[in-house]
Amino acid sequence: MSDRPDLPARPPFTLRARVLTPLDDGAVGHLPDACLEVDATGRLVAVEAWGARPADPSVLDLRPWVAMPGLVDLHVHLPQVPNAGLGAGMELLDWLDRYIFPLEQAYAREVAEVQAPLVFRALAAAGTTTISAYAALWPESTDACFAAAEEHGIRAVIGKVMMDRVTYDAQIARHDILDTSLRQSADLCERWHGADDGRLGYAFTPRFAVSCTEEMLAESARLAAYYGAWWQSHLAEDAGECDRVKRLFPESRDYLDVYERAGGLNDRAILAHAIHLSPSEVERLAASGARVAHCPASNLFLSSGLMPLARYLEAGIPVGLGSDLAAGPELSIFSVMRAAAVTARVLHLAGGEARPRLSPLDWLRLGTLAGARALGMGERIGSLEAGKEADLIVVDPVLTDPLPESEELTDPEELMSRLIFRPHPEMVRGAWVRGKLLPT
Ligand SMILES: [Zn+2]
Repeated sequence: MSDRPDLPARPPFTLRARVLTPLDDGAVGHLPDACLEVDATGRLVAVEAWGARPADPSVLDLRPWVAMPGLVDLHVHLPQVPNAGLGAGMELLDWLDRYIFPLEQAYAREVAEVQAPLVFRALAAAGTTTISAYAALWPESTDACFAAAEEHGIRAVIGKVMMDRVTYDAQIARHDILDTSLRQSADLCERWHGADDGRLGYAFTPRFAVSCTEEMLAESARLAAYYGAWWQSHLAEDAGECDRVKRLFPESRDYLDVYERAGGLNDRAILAHAIHLSPSEVERLAASGARVAHCPASNLFLSSGLMPLARYLEAGIPVGLGSDLAAGPELSIFSVMRAAAVTARVLHLAGGEARPRLSPLDWLRLGTLAGARALGMGERIGSLEAGKEADLIVVDPVLTDPLPESEELTDPEELMSRLIFRPHPEMVRGAWVRGKLLPT
């Protein structure tokens, strides 16, 4: 393993490295030898070929490391991380009862104060610099998650989970649940939404239709619109869940209609999974502007199904990637890209997807710029381009070589293919948000 040099902890700084990034105009930027300059405010002011510049001893030369945009995880559950990898192959609703609700129920402020900083470090070590996350039902531990994110430096949208139908809150009086949950969520939003110049944001987080009444869904959507915050939930993840929703909402024509009626669907809505949708739902989802968090590793782990990504992209639905920890067993978005590629291939083999294959560079875009755009942050982050904030990672591709001293991969698609299909747990050597090095 190559030694890790002392990486700059704060801006301003200049790096010399290979650069691989999606670009806003749809192209891919690949500079084998590049200069990457970050100004004192944490903004990229130059990303360009090193060219004829003289060698500069004040510039950290990281070659053959590759600088890429920080990865964006659109769907992660902070309290669930300790049970990652447990319960493979169980059905969603049983798995929630067995492995998840007890963990979330025990997620008190003191637990979050210990765990959340560790989770953020682990995410940064895997290259994730932006998350959209669920906490548990409790406002105190949600507050602790925000405080930990503020301290750590990760870019985070977080929400307190809301459940007023099936809930693990044994204390609360039934007639109080709705008002209490709305008030607690609004308080957290007022405290944290937009904090640190927009690095932290709030998402109203009704868990999913199974655990929420129409009122909870509608009122949370109303509050999200009022505050200009996000609204996140799960959609059509599992067949058993879809059946339950049909019974709970007999007046709705399908699952999506439950959220449509609630007024939840717009460009601030992030819906995880979205596997079992009818052609009409796909069309209406695209028209609504809502975003989909594609969580293929989770979908395979719980046998939830294969989301037809290519069909959604063709329909114009904005899609990014989510680890869905802990139904997704791994927190690396590189691993999620691999699961997404496998899912796409299996769907194609089974005749479910006719479209041309997505290339490794398409997966890079989905895990970075597409995720940033799904959060409405595409103007600020998601690619390494002058003018954007310096949310970036450096990766050591040498660690992924099958044999020592292999030749450097010069082709960007081959390089990305290697990082996705032969990742090394320590290949991400540094991660920055706004030019500040994240603890790992
Ligand atoms: Zn989830």
